Amino acid sequence: MNILILNCGSSSIKYKLFKMDQNTVLARGVVERIGLTGSQLRYRAGGKNDLVDAKPVPGHREALEMILQTLISGGHGVIGNLKEIDAVGHRVVHGGEYFQQPVAVDNNVLELLEECSQLAPLHNPPNIMGIKVCRQLIPHAAQVAVFDTAFHQTIPDYAYMYAIPYKYYREHKIRKYGFHGTSHKYVSRRAAELADETVKKLKIITCHLGNGASLCAIDGDRSVDTTMGFTPLAGVIMGTRCGDVDPAIVDYMSGIEGITGAEVLEILNKHSGVLGLSGLSSDFRDLEQAALEGHPRARLALDMFIYSIAKNIGALIAALGGLDALVFTAGIGENSPGVRAGICSKLNYMGILLDDGKNSTSGEETLISTSDSLVQVFVIPTDEEKMIAEETKTAASNLTYK
Ligand code: ADP
Repeated sequence: MNILILNCGSSSIKYKLFKMDQNTVLARGVVERIGLTGSQLRYRAGGKNDLVDAKPVPGHREALEMILQTLISGGHGVIGNLKEIDAVGHRVVHGGEYFQQPVAVDNNVLELLEECSQLAPLHNPPNIMGIKVCRQLIPHAAQVAVFDTAFHQTIPDYAYMYAIPYKYYREHKIRKYGFHGTSHKYVSRRAAELADETVKKLKIITCHLGNGASLCAIDGDRSVDTTMGFTPLAGVIMGTRCGDVDPAIVDYMSGIEGITGAEVLEILNKHSGVLGLSGLSSDFRDLEQAALEGHPRARLALDMFIYSIAKNIGALIAALGGLDALVFTAGIGENSPGVRAGICSKLNYMGILLDDGKNSTSGEETLISTSDSLVQVFVIPTDEEKMIAEETKTAASNLTYK
């Protein structure tokens, strides 16, 4: 079974073609700068030369046509014809309260996805566009939507509600949704496999620390709380996002700067976090280097990031009523021993102990806690595409029609 995974953004489409029976990736790449100057397709397939095809790509339809043509082309192709693509797994950011699982897309699902666009106006429309174009270009293939929000639909009401007048939930669906669900699900299941225990028995906190960062409390394979909220702006401090702040700041900043609420949100999303604090960079490699060289605001940004994660881990332990495993993943979680050590040192009192030697690992599945640590601590590289491919396979196999 061959499954194509697509992540359609506003100006790019990332793709990966999996051969599921052999657990291999046949081809992968991206079309960048769709509708802009300098658009190009990048393509990589095992045993073939890398391809960079720079030419105008006016829209998502043309981008998808380019990807599909390359997959079957004489020189670079990895499949004989498009019929060999059995299913397409689409990453969809927001499924609202409608979707707790991946779903095979039909007209009814498409309508609900359009409705969810109100909640993710930047992300859902290009995701939906990708689905619609694929239905036209490869109508024989099952189209499956896999949501960033779905894993968190098991969070109980007392954790997902905001204490604002109830009508805002009832009429406008304002509540915590949470994001990065595919990543949290993937690494928590891998952690259970590595711990040699069924995930149904474990209480796990997963720390997805990339440019965007969120933590998730997972009890027996079910998300019971997470740090992001109605949008990905909430929760822990991130690369350029502020995380949790007093909402009264928005109106106050708007007043002093003479700018709109939307402009304040732009500052809180794109110019805040460790970038805003340090004035240097949102990249942790830069910040760690600068802190070593004595840059005080780089040090402050790192200290605040570490503090914010450790504090939220404490909150999620309370949500779980215990903890068996702690997982670090994504760019920072996988690659920064310093951040992991900083966070875990604040949790020593509760028996979380890191093995310094094992913690020096980078980007590999590793148990980094000591044998006498009360909680097993793992580094697990995330693989959202693989998870989406597996979920797509399940959803497509359950289809009684095609
Ligand atoms: P995204 O959310 O864009 O998928 P990633 O998961 O790729 O983000 O994480 C990107 C971040 O990972 C970079 O901004 C950088 O801060 C961090 N990072 C990558 N490599 C390292 C490293 N070796 N040491 C510290 N941080 C790193």
